[in-house]
Amino acid sequence: MPDFKSIGEFGFIDHIATHPTPKHVLCGIGDDCAVIAQSDTQVRLVTTDMMVERVHFLTDTPPEGLGHKLLAVNISDIAAMGGTPTDAVISLAVPANHDAGYLERLYNGLYACADRFNVAIVGGDTTRSHNQLVLNISLTGQMNCNHVCYRSGAQIGDLIYVSGTLGDASGGLSLIQDQIEMDQTDRTHLLRKFHRPEPRLELGQTLAATDAITAMMDVSDGVASDLRHICQRSEVSASLQASAIPLSDAFLNFCQKTKKDAIQLALSGGEDYELLFAIKPDRAKEIESLVQKSSAPKITCIGQITEGKDAIQITHEDNSRSPLTVTGYDHFKSTP
Ligand SMILES: [Mg+2]
Repeated sequence: MPDFKSIGEFGFIDHIATHPTPKHVLCGIGDDCAVIAQSDTQVRLVTTDMMVERVHFLTDTPPEGLGHKLLAVNISDIAAMGGTPTDAVISLAVPANHDAGYLERLYNGLYACADRFNVAIVGGDTTRSHNQLVLNISLTGQMNCNHVCYRSGAQIGDLIYVSGTLGDASGGLSLIQDQIEMDQTDRTHLLRKFHRPEPRLELGQTLAATDAITAMMDVSDGVASDLRHICQRSEVSASLQASAIPLSDAFLNFCQKTKKDAIQLALSGGEDYELLFAIKPDRAKEIESLVQKSSAPKITCIGQITEGKDAIQITHEDNSRSPLTVTGYDHFKSTP
């Protein structure tokens, strides 16, 4: 078998996902959460996420934010199905000489997030690591079986929407890594989006309850990569409109200062934890006004599901069209 770098994270997942699952598993590997039948009306959702020092976070990351993020990214996966998070277990691998006060502060951030979203921390495991801090959460959730939003239901003609703005988290990461000076307001906005992502839980639940959403997932690796997952699972293609991609002023200022291509970075940058979803075209206006009346962030139509298999076209701001060539983040193929 080839090494990880050549097959990548998703090549590996495809390779192991062929193992058969029992009947009560309604959805196994390949969506934001596994979906398990619980009763005639309810399903249980299960998700897990690992964060490794110097792979997912820098050694001097503020611990309260790290604790928040560790749980928030898992809640985001529950939001992507439209569910309600319930219980979590946490596993830590800690170097023996690690500052215990750092971990206490990490737990403060984690518990604050758990309290806000009514998640019970019910156990876990702590073990020794040789040189890196490794953090893992497994989170369960629940929801009505009729409202689950999988990645696999997108139909030709559906409109593609995204919540909030894209690219802010990758701007925040670049501010830290490349030590870029910026206006304090812009800096605070980008760093906050990177350190303290806000899971779109209420939005996910609101959308799922409408039965107008045909596919949904959260944006963790960048829309360029994540939309491909929806296309693959739904066996469709997509077309995006560059001029419609929602960008914050702080991100646009960052791109201007660093001479980066804003659209390219917004589509390829990871960790925005916004929701990406497809709406039946005749329900789109109704859903837009429903979201507008809630306290959820704005949603924006960025494209449409098209015929074909797993191809994404983008219409650029000068109206030219080309296949989308940028990719999102892959832990084994991308350079951190
Ligand atoms: Mg996800």
